[in-house]
Amino acid sequence: MLKKTSHFIREANFIGGAWVEADSGATISVNNPANGQLIGTVPKSGRVETRRAIQAAEEAFHSWKRTSADHRAKLLRRLHDVIMDNQDALAELLTLEQGKPLAEAKGEVGMSAAYVLWYAEEGRRVYGDIVPSPWADRRILVTKEPVGVIGAITPWNFPSSMLARKLGPALAAGCTAVAKPASQTPFSGLAWGVLVEEAGFPEGVVNIVTGSASEIGDELTENHLVRKITFTGSTEIGKLLMQKASSTVKKVSMELGGNAPFLVFDDADVDRAVEGAMIAKYRNAGQTCVCTNRFFVQEKIYDRFVEKLVDATQKLNVGPGLEEGVHQGPLIDDGAVRKVEELIADATSKGGTIATGGKRHALGGTFFEPTVITGANPQMRIMEEEIFGPVSPIFKFREEEEAVELANATSFGLACYFYTNDLGRAFRVMEGLKYGLVGVNEGIITTVEAPFGGLKESGLGKEGGRQGIEDYLDTKYVCIGGLGL
Ligand code: NAP
Repeated sequence: MLKKTSHFIREANFIGGAWVEADSGATISVNNPANGQLIGTVPKSGRVETRRAIQAAEEAFHSWKRTSADHRAKLLRRLHDVIMDNQDALAELLTLEQGKPLAEAKGEVGMSAAYVLWYAEEGRRVYGDIVPSPWADRRILVTKEPVGVIGAITPWNFPSSMLARKLGPALAAGCTAVAKPASQTPFSGLAWGVLVEEAGFPEGVVNIVTGSASEIGDELTENHLVRKITFTGSTEIGKLLMQKASSTVKKVSMELGGNAPFLVFDDADVDRAVEGAMIAKYRNAGQTCVCTNRFFVQEKIYDRFVEKLVDATQKLNVGPGLEEGVHQGPLIDDGAVRKVEELIADATSKGGTIATGGKRHALGGTFFEPTVITGANPQMRIMEEEIFGPVSPIFKFREEEEAVELANATSFGLACYFYTNDLGRAFRVMEGLKYGLVGVNEGIITTVEAPFGGLKESGLGKEGGRQGIEDYLDTKYVCIGGLGL
């Protein structure tokens, strides 16, 4: 039976299959960024509740790891179906707490289900090796085993799919999990508790704790029972977690910040480039790790590209995500708006010109006008800092090498995009860009089948693809001797 949105709003932690409050009874308020209204509250938990969740996950691990891959695949397929049956309700919940347009929220929920389905199948293909032995009477086996309890910490910008990319492979591999969703969007995370319950997962296989990020993070990183930390969020917190996880030598995978360049060469199809630019920039109001942060456009095509991009940007409909026909919702909070304002002020003080937008939207709150800034240059803060808002700074370049050099002049290395119709250039530039994800003549490339992950300070490890399950597995070498052969 289809469930209403309210069915998925749980104001409690999910530990060992039970819905429980924080010991202190303290809570965190969750507000709708489109109108500031209170949606509900979630527990403000700390180390004690997290330790309990880890204990529950450890107990569940003993039996979960012994289930067959086929059994886990069946449960994951059921989980996929429960998500898709409730796609509308889950999308509405996501828009309520995160702000993105409903169509984007539906897309995200669909993506979550797709990750679960993908790993339902990948879990059945976790192969080991039999290695030719240098000894006549011994045999060498290499086996793969689930790492154990994993700790998953996720951000507010994709509160459903970022968890799916972690829970999907973890559960398929035979791991159990303690998840900590972002405090601004915890309901889409807690909804996974309802979903796994309804799909029939055993108690304790998935546990979800909300509350103090530093306390929960400290327990997850320092507790010996947790064998892996998987984090999506800012590079700053990622580095901190890596340091803390070193105290117990855990595996870590990190999906961190980005600073995506978008290169448009003179030979590109301008209309296609603008279409890609709109998705790569303004999706989720520019609040994605793979959002274009810097446009580099070759001089001969510059004016035409700017004109068309400005035109398309002015057509974006800004409003509450639940309203029909809205392309861009509010930013997550006032801090995000202030950061965008600061970066725009910095850019204009260093020679940039606002071609459209540039200020808070007339709707008030945290709505912001979709913005284009021309005449961008490397002295501006946007050259290195993530904007995380609907602002397109456009740099002009002359030579291909110069563009690649500018694109790589950042400590980040997550996504990049470029547009050209020259095949030789496509290979040269693709090979020259130091990024984990490259879109050639495409502005949106994330898909469950492909390994998603950054280079340099954008992270470690991959999510999605056949590679995405590796991080949840330990490799064991077994030497069987005395065979008398
Ligand atoms: P964030 O501030 O790093 O927060 C992410 C998560 O970490 C939240 O759950 C947060 O909890 C938690 N956290 C904060 N401080 C912590 C601590 N000391 N110990 C443990 N956990 C802690 O990032 P955000 O602002 O939510 O997300 C935006 C960032 O994520 C951007 O940099 C973006 O590029 C990146 N991102 C990367 C990817 C990718 O795949 N590479 C995908 C999406 C987003 P609270 O909410 O309770 O503070």
